[in-house]
Amino acid sequence: MEKIKMTTPLVEMDGDEMTRILWKMIKEELLEPYIDLKTEYYDLGLEHRNETDDQVTIDSALATKKYKVAVKCATITPNAARMDEYDLKEMWKSPNGTIRAILDGTVFRAPIVVKGIEPCVKNWKKPITIARHAYGDVYKGTEMKIPGAGKVELVYTAEDGSQTKELVHEFDGPGIVQGIHNINKSIESFARSCFSYALDTKQDLWFATKDTISKKYDHTFKDIFQEIFDAEYADKFKEAGIEYFYTLIDDAVARVMKSEGGYIWACKNYDGDVMSDMVSSAFGSLAMMTSVLVSPEGYYEYEAAHGTVQRHYYKHLKGEETSTNSVATIFAWTGALRKRGELDGNKELMEFADRLEKATIDTIEAGEMTKDLALITTIENPTVLNSEGFIKAIAKRL
Ligand code: NAP
Ligand code: MG
Repeated sequence: MEKIKMTTPLVEMDGDEMTRILWKMIKEELLEPYIDLKTEYYDLGLEHRNETDDQVTIDSALATKKYKVAVKCATITPNAARMDEYDLKEMWKSPNGTIRAILDGTVFRAPIVVKGIEPCVKNWKKPITIARHAYGDVYKGTEMKIPGAGKVELVYTAEDGSQTKELVHEFDGPGIVQGIHNINKSIESFARSCFSYALDTKQDLWFATKDTISKKYDHTFKDIFQEIFDAEYADKFKEAGIEYFYTLIDDAVARVMKSEGGYIWACKNYDGDVMSDMVSSAFGSLAMMTSVLVSPEGYYEYEAAHGTVQRHYYKHLKGEETSTNSVATIFAWTGALRKRGELDGNKELMEFADRLEKATIDTIEAGEMTKDLALITTIENPTVLNSEGFIKAIAKRL
């Protein structure tokens, strides 16, 4: 068979521990036999980040701006224990944080739905993708404990020195107070990322806030989304046959539970934090969850939603067998290859991504899976495979 050609490279960000092992197997067994794989390789493994003073992470993000599509392996975010384990010069920042700061994007998380791994919400038939705004609100809040009676005010001092004041509360005893903010520019990029991703994936977009109670703060989110939608996306949505739907957050939660799924749910920072954990645990497993960072300029970085699976890696180092699920990492690759194909007009590459996803899903639906899925599947007598055996079973179908 002649291998599929690529015209533009993908940015490949290698990572750590068990996922680094899976990464290599996926390339060798599932990709390189079929594709003349063109990547610009960046080793974000912790050792190499340490050697380069983390410059490699910055370089990989800049390369993503150049080539527009990246695929990333899970990486260690160092903590005190890792300082000793890897003899680090510094407690380097989270690579995801560094990359996000450079690309300024929104993270979309979607479950991979297969028959036999049933969501515990029984009417959910299609994936629900959560888009979480990643700036501001309570995550950049300022708080005070109020010791006793007194007045709390919000004060805005403009550049010319003029002031606007708003009373928060006249305390007659102890209490608490919180100041939070957001920036129109950040909300605008969030909105554009959501609308673009909805068009890309041909799914409806839902957005919700508490604008009835928060008439200025949350209402601004609602207004910015609506203005950008009307000015830039309404026609494109109509053409694609998809909808933008705004409602109150409590109404959204109720509708989500009763829906069939199959849409993107844009959430403010706190709502996204809470709701993504609800949606992912209801769909079954972090190992079946993909994640993509979409920047407002149209750069895409694909990865698995889970970490480096440290516990399995230590077993692997001791020579013990592991049964680590590679599905989310495979789907990070297929997401990136499909997007590369789309941007380059490379139909073969896009079709390959579809086939690899189908082979992966078919393998599980045929009862061949890793241990984490075998524990929760409704399929009777599943065959539990080890990390390599599962990838080989997919390769056979592919
Ligand atoms: P983790 O890698 O997500 O794994 C936690 C547990 O979840 C595992 O021990 C395993 O449970 C289960 N699990 C996760 N992914 C699995 C898979 N693919 N197949 C089978 N089981 C899976 O989190 P962690 O071990 O707490 O964190 C390890 C490192 O990952 C940390 O250094 C952290 O900084 C990093 N991390 C990176 C990212 C990222 O790069 N995006 C995200 C999160 C964490 P059992 O042990 O019960 O089998
Ligand atoms: Mg959380």
